[in-house]
Amino acid sequence: MKNGTSKATPLPEITLDDIGGLPEEMKEEIHQTLSIIKDPKRATQVGIQAPKGILLYGPPGTGKTLLAQAIAREIGATFYSSSGSAFTELFVGVGASRVRTLFQNARKHRPAVIFIDEVDALAGKRKEHGGEESEKTLTELLVQLDGGNDNEGILFIAATNRKDMLDEAFLRPGRIDYTFNVPLPDTHGRREIIDIHTKGRLLAEEVYASLDVLAESTSGFSGAELGSLFETASKRAIRDGREKIGKGDLDFAIDRTILGSTSRTLNDP
Ligand code: ATP
Repeated sequence: MKNGTSKATPLPEITLDDIGGLPEEMKEEIHQTLSIIKDPKRATQVGIQAPKGILLYGPPGTGKTLLAQAIAREIGATFYSSSGSAFTELFVGVGASRVRTLFQNARKHRPAVIFIDEVDALAGKRKEHGGEESEKTLTELLVQLDGGNDNEGILFIAATNRKDMLDEAFLRPGRIDYTFNVPLPDTHGRREIIDIHTKGRLLAEEVYASLDVLAESTSGFSGAELGSLFETASKRAIRDGREKIGKGDLDFAIDRTILGSTSRTLNDP
């Protein structure tokens, strides 16, 4: 099957604590949601339904995939991960049959999380989406999401950078019960993410001392960009035979990230 859309994906060792910069209320809401999923009987007693679907939306590289992985790990679920584009096909019925197979496989390995990144490619507004094939694929997704008891122990998580593109029918409660905005991190969030990505790396004293300033001066950077800063700096240090990441390595990595982005400048702290 194209892009392994129906196979379980190994989960990295990740918890919610490995994701920096998430707003406090959001973390709290996620914890609450997880406790409902973990103890659905108790939730039913107090009149709450376990969620079936969660939508994560926000700019690229803010940790939506990490979040889906951490949720799956937290509830001990098998993880089925694919991208919306893996379901877009020229031949009518192929995408729909992939959606069906994905859900069928997940139902054999409950509890399971089905994660679809770039879900806009699969669940985009119907009139703009166009085409019989994509219409059929979306209809099949809606049918599978409405699977009733068949979906017990299945949590669907979708991620997108373009929430505005999604079809209303897809977003209906019962299909998507919770929607979380995963924003670009603020200064405090960037500092948390820097901590996460420097853990286990050796840094020169002056680099350690400059991390607060780095957090302040990297407004607009995503978690992925901050992570790649230290990855690039680390590689350069190793290449040059240095044990610790030095200021030159970090400056080099910052320049690279800024050059790689069309809209990025380092702002004055
Ligand atoms: P996209 O929208 O492009 O699919 P995404 O929001 O799903 O991106 P991830 O794939 O979760 O982003 O992030 C990519 C990598 O960036 C992660 O593996 C991690 O190393 C780093 N990263 C991103 N966000 C965070 C964060 N909030 N905290 C820590 N690391 C992060």
